[in-house]
Amino acid sequence: MNDIFDVIIIGSGPAGLTAGIYTTRASLSTLIIGGTAWGGQLMLTTEVENFPGFPEGIMGPELIGKIRKQAERFGAVFKEEDVESVDFEVVGDFRVVGDGEQYKGRSIIIATGAQTQWLNLPTEKRLIGRGVSSCAPCDAPFFKEKEVIVVGGGDSAMEEALVLSRFATSVKIVHRRNAFRASEIMQKKVFDNPKISVIWNSEVVDILGEEKVTGVKLKDVGTGETKEVRIDGVFVAIGHKPATEIYSGQVELDEKEYIKVYDHTRTSKVGVFVAGDVHDYRYKQAITAAAFGCMAAMDAEKWLEERKS
Ligand code: NAP
Repeated sequence: MNDIFDVIIIGSGPAGLTAGIYTTRASLSTLIIGGTAWGGQLMLTTEVENFPGFPEGIMGPELIGKIRKQAERFGAVFKEEDVESVDFEVVGDFRVVGDGEQYKGRSIIIATGAQTQWLNLPTEKRLIGRGVSSCAPCDAPFFKEKEVIVVGGGDSAMEEALVLSRFATSVKIVHRRNAFRASEIMQKKVFDNPKISVIWNSEVVDILGEEKVTGVKLKDVGTGETKEVRIDGVFVAIGHKPATEIYSGQVELDEKEYIKVYDHTRTSKVGVFVAGDVHDYRYKQAITAAAFGCMAAMDAEKWLEERKS
């Protein structure tokens, strides 16, 4: 294996793998440290209908498997290891430790993504893709003429509800308090939408259904009373957590602990670039993550070229 790689990519969702396709095709030696649970959010997704190039749709794990193959085809070295620590102190001689081994890179692309926060209910995981979702832009068309709930009270919940209202017969937002934290403008859009109603002061304590979602059990947080509501879909929008713990003190993070970006894909550290959901809380799509991966790879290549001259 190389003593020092031109690029070390940390993360193996669409951002990291697309970066790998571009860096290897630019003849840069590339190590992708993809994680033991490699592949990112697409591994948890069922059918993907909005990724260009697959008119019939494609299953999430199959899509990410194909992108990985494409990166490996051009020579990317792929490690299914978790990164334990990084040391970005010396520009051009960056260190990344995974599985007890230290790797050296002339440049770095951070693409570790963000994890959807789930409710952690026993049935939730089993029903993801069978009525449970965290992405209305991806899954709303499956809920035409159906009844759905959205859990959460932030901007994401408002956005999910608004997208769903274009397809579903009714959308109920279930929120654990009696006020949203979402911006006024988003709240207004929600309150003005006749298809959307709100169930305040309530928590989802169970998701019902064997093969697919058939309902939820709600608990009134004031009285403790529970009731079952028949429903076809549950959209969980209670936030995301960027995977940035290992970069603390190495590159700047913003107030929400996402990687802070300067000039498209640059981080606060020269030679360290960023791509995908680990810095992007706005779009959070596989295709936008892939595009950020492409951008970060091109920026890393240009930076490496400039350093040589
Ligand atoms: P967020 O602002 O952190 O809101 C999360 C919501 O989920 C809160 O209302 C919270 O309730 C609720 N929640 C958290 N844990 C829960 C649990 N275990 N059970 C039930 N409810 C729970 O997250 P977000 O909406 O994803 O937004 C993240 C950031 O992205 C924000 O800064 C937001 O403004 C931004 N964003 C902007 C846009 C836009 O501008 N169009 C769109 C999406 C996101 P509490 O309120 O009680 O804490």
